[in-house]
Amino acid sequence: MINFCKNANCPSAQDLLRFQTTEISQRERRNIESHFAECEFCAAEAEFYKHYPQSEEKIEAVEIPKPLYELAKALLGNRRNDFSMLNRLLGENETLTLEKV
Ligand SMILES: [Zn+2]
Repeated sequence: MINFCKNANCPSAQDLLRFQTTEISQRERRNIESHFAECEFCAAEAEFYKHYPQSEEKIEAVEIPKPLYELAKALLGNRRNDFSMLNRLLGENETLTLEKV
């Protein structure tokens, strides 16, 4: 089993959800954006939330959604900066702007 859990520097799922809203300070937003450059898991997670917004009531109990789990496992499994699978999951007309490492 691939170990792809977040590390201590990763923003929480709640922070990533708030990142998709306006309830986040400029400073927090910049911190999270710079984190995305070095953490493709969080970048993929935030991208997922953007396309599949979670309802506010569920934020307290948020867990990694199953499709995201599979996606992250696949991404971290081949490590080839290949976002074609992500693009497929998100819809073929979407163009991602994730930064390649
Ligand atoms: Zn992270």
